[in-house]
Amino acid sequence: MEEQLLKRSENKCELCESGEPLNTYSVIPQKVPNEDNTILICDKCRAQIERTAPTDQNHLRCLTTSIWSVVPGVQVLSWRLLNRLKAENWASDALDMMYLDEETLAWAQAGLDEEETEAEELHRDSNGAILETGNTVVLTKTLDVKGSSLSVKLGTVVKNIRLVENNTDQIEGKIEGQVIVILTKYVRKQGA
Ligand SMILES: [Zn+2]
Repeated sequence: MEEQLLKRSENKCELCESGEPLNTYSVIPQKVPNEDNTILICDKCRAQIERTAPTDQNHLRCLTTSIWSVVPGVQVLSWRLLNRLKAENWASDALDMMYLDEETLAWAQAGLDEEETEAEELHRDSNGAILETGNTVVLTKTLDVKGSSLSVKLGTVVKNIRLVENNTDQIEGKIEGQVIVILTKYVRKQGA
C-alpha cells in the first residue's frame, strides 16, 4: 500500500506538501487500514497531530489547502486539526468552507470525541492552558528544590520544558543547569 500512497501523494506530505521524510499515518478510528484512512505525512505534521511539539499555527496554515484533498483521511485529519484551532479566525473560516459528506463527518467527529477524552490527560498550567514539550513557562511561586539548597524564585522563566509521562501534574525544566521536576500548578505558560 505504501507504494500506492507515495504515488498518490507524489512523495509529498499530504497535509503540508513538504518533501520531508514521510511516514504512513493511520487516521483513527478505523477497522481495516486502506488507502482512505491511511495517509502519508511528515514528522512536523505528526508532531502537531500528536501534540509532541508546541502548536505551530504557521505550519498548520497548510490545512487551508489540505481541506480540498479528495482523500477522506486527509479531509478528516484536517477537519480535526482545524477544530482544535477554531478559536482562530482563519481556522474557523476554513472549517466553514469545508464540505464533508455525512459518513466522513461522522468519522471525523468520532475521532474528535476520542481526542477530548485524551484531553483530560493533558498537562495544564495554573490557568488551565495546555502545556506542550518545548514550551516556556514562568513560575508563579518560589520553589525550594528537594534535596538541594536551590531555591527558584517566583517569576523565573523556564524554557524548553518536558512533560513528565503518565503524570499530568509534573513537568521537567532545566534551572541553573539542573533538571528539576516542577508541579504544573505552579507555572504559567508564556506566549502563544
Ligand atoms: Zn507535513
